[in-house]
This record gives sequence, structure tokens and C-alpha cells, in this order.
Amino acid sequence: MKVGLGHDTHRLVDGRSLILAGLRIEHDKGLAGHSDADVVLHAVIDALLGAAGLGDIGDAFPDDDPANLNADSVLFLQATMARLYVKGYKLINVDIVIHAQEPKLGPVKTLLRENLATLLGLSVDHVNVKAKTGEHVGHIGRGEAIACHAVVLLDDGDYPGSQTL
Ligand code: MG
Repeated sequence: MKVGLGHDTHRLVDGRSLILAGLRIEHDKGLAGHSDADVVLHAVIDALLGAAGLGDIGDAFPDDDPANLNADSVLFLQATMARLYVKGYKLINVDIVIHAQEPKLGPVKTLLRENLATLLGLSVDHVNVKAKTGEHVGHIGRGEAIACHAVVLLDDGDYPGSQTL
């Protein structure tokens, strides 16, 4: 088994759509970034790459590459998963914490979880989404940014009884 940790932060700004876990969330601001700035998928991608010993999202999808301008981060996730499957890894579970003072994520937490599970090819009970406010302190609490932490567990196929895709 291999565990991976991912983290990402993006600034909340006017004039952008808010995309979280591949879904467009109703809000008067969105996240700034070279791609669609999906902070959830970026954290999950970094966790996947970390577990597999494959560096980070900046190595894989440089933010100065014009090909990645306004890119759909779902494509980054799919490309990352393909790299892991080629190496024989199987994803076991994903747990994430989203830090956002605004918008309130409680009402959409289940939708985010279900979409993340679909994108990752996992059952919903192998994906968990937690939402925290910033308690009105710091850059999260002032509504200036949204952050996400992600942890993943991979089966590396190296122990008896494991299944490799
Ligand atoms: Mg990012």
C-alpha cells in the first residue's frame, strides 16, 4: 500500500466560475488560476502523484503551458489516473477536506462526493468529502481563497492477494 498527500489553494476572484470536484458551484466568485482552478481535483491529483512517487501537478501540467490555459482539470485527473493504472496501481480510497468560508459547502457536499467518486471510478463509500470554514480568520476565513487537502491510498499490487487493474 502507498499513501499520498495533496494540498492546493486558489484565490477567490470576481469574474470566474467556481469549479469544485469537476462541478460548477453557484457563487458570485470563482477561483483564479491558469486552468479552471479546480482546487479539489488539483489536491487529489497531487495526492495520487505523491502516492505513486511521480512528483507533483506542476511537473505534470505546468501552469506556463498554453495548452493548460483554462483547461478542464477533469482531463488532468484522467491523465494522472491513466499513468497510475499503467504502473499497476489500484486506487483504494480518497479522503478530502475543503476549506472555504464561502460559499457554504454543506448543501453541495454530497454532490461533490458523488461526482468525485464517479470521476475516480470508486464507490461513494470509498470517497469522503469534509468541508470546513476558516472561522473568519486568515485568508480562508476572510473569503479570499479556497483550499483543499487530500489523502489517497493506493494498492501497489506487490503483496499477495492484491488485485491489479
Ligand atoms: Mg491548483
